[in-house]
Amino acid sequence: MCIFCEIIKGNISSYKIYEDNEFLSFLDISQATNGHVLVIPKKHFANIFEVDDDTLAKISVLTKKIALQLCKNLNVKNCNILNNYGPLAGQTVNHFHIHIIPRYNDSDVIIKFNNQNKTKDEMINIANTIKNNCQ
Ligand code: 5GP
Ligand code: ZN
Repeated sequence: MCIFCEIIKGNISSYKIYEDNEFLSFLDISQATNGHVLVIPKKHFANIFEVDDDTLAKISVLTKKIALQLCKNLNVKNCNILNNYGPLAGQTVNHFHIHIIPRYNDSDVIIKFNNQNKTKDEMINIANTIKNNCQ
């Protein structure tokens, strides 16, 4: 069984932050920064694209609520809220989860976006490729 399902069942212990019938939030074991938590649905979905829209909407609102309160309780003003989809993007547990990572300074977690300095034509080509059927 998946490791997060084991946590939900109580077979693996966790430091719980929030729990209701549908969702659970608990400390990430790695603690990228103090207060790094995960928010998960109790129903097993392998990743964000497997989650039904209703659950995704609910977990988004819940994550906002937990992140706001967590930042207040830790007296921090910044945080990253993110989901990793797929191994190349860093997904290591195949049970959908959202990270909340409070930030204390700009180098406590390295999340860097390279600027590839694309030309205007390249930007147009990229936009044309990815916008197909988006609307
Ligand atoms: P991902 O890399 O899939 O986006 O995030 C998975 C996260 O789950 C990692 O940050 C990792 O530290 C955390 N994790 C893995 N196993 C356990 C565990 O047994 N307990 C807890 N609390 N977190 C875990
Ligand atoms: Zn699971």
